[in-house]
Amino acid sequence: MPELPEVETTRRGVAPYVERQKVTAVRIYDRRLRWPVPRGLTQRLIGQVVDRIDRRSKYLLFRTAQGTLIVHLGMTGSLRVFSKPPPRQAHDHVDLEFESGIVLRYRDPRRFGAMLWSPASARDHPLLASLGPEPFAAEFNVDYLFRATRRRRAAIKLALMDNRLVVGVGNIYASEALFRAGIRPTRAAGRVSKERYAALVEAVRETLTDAIAKGGSTLRDYVDVLGEPGHFQLNYNVYDRAGDPCRVCGTTIRLVRLGARASYYCPNCQR
Ligand SMILES: [Zn+2]
Repeated sequence: MPELPEVETTRRGVAPYVERQKVTAVRIYDRRLRWPVPRGLTQRLIGQVVDRIDRRSKYLLFRTAQGTLIVHLGMTGSLRVFSKPPPRQAHDHVDLEFESGIVLRYRDPRRFGAMLWSPASARDHPLLASLGPEPFAAEFNVDYLFRATRRRRAAIKLALMDNRLVVGVGNIYASEALFRAGIRPTRAAGRVSKERYAALVEAVRETLTDAIAKGGSTLRDYVDVLGEPGHFQLNYNVYDRAGDPCRVCGTTIRLVRLGARASYYCPNCQR
């Protein structure tokens, strides 16, 4: 599933070909995504210039003077850029064509993604209105995190994956950030000290920054790439490494289920 770094990588890959470009055609092959692609989307987009593409959590926001196209990649979605688009294949659902001739193609085999329209900035859109701060935003800091987690009995890992606390920290990056911060994923969020939250803020940012940098290295030749962009393999410290030795101390990495999600930690490095 694309997490924040993959979505940010997609944004960076797509932006140079789409920003300041006028939409000349919209081809919707299949509206049945997580929510139906709105009927009026074609009319709203044709003739509009995409001023820029922003990212909020895992939503890509295509800004135009008339409103915002909201794109979510769901579980298996991807956006690809073509100068000469190949024939449409089974899971290609939407094409946006630009004046430059570039075609932006949305592909999504499992169709859990979304393509929606907001007549304004989308900040108040129901999908975005209750989201917590971005991990790189100034509001995501130790004071905020400490205050927001007092009296929370939920495991710190589940708190970190809660979009109302902070967005974009999915299962993989929560596991990796907690390892970097030396915090055991099962610890109650309300029982993590302020000092350790300071370490966690840094760890979350470092983990995501590393992943985005890794994604950046896959960005060359973004145009006309037929493979799935933005699914890059990282050298994880704990994620998916149950039974393997910790890269720091050699202790066997353990697996624990938290909220039905697999969680991995080193029982020696993480307390
Ligand atoms: Zn260890």
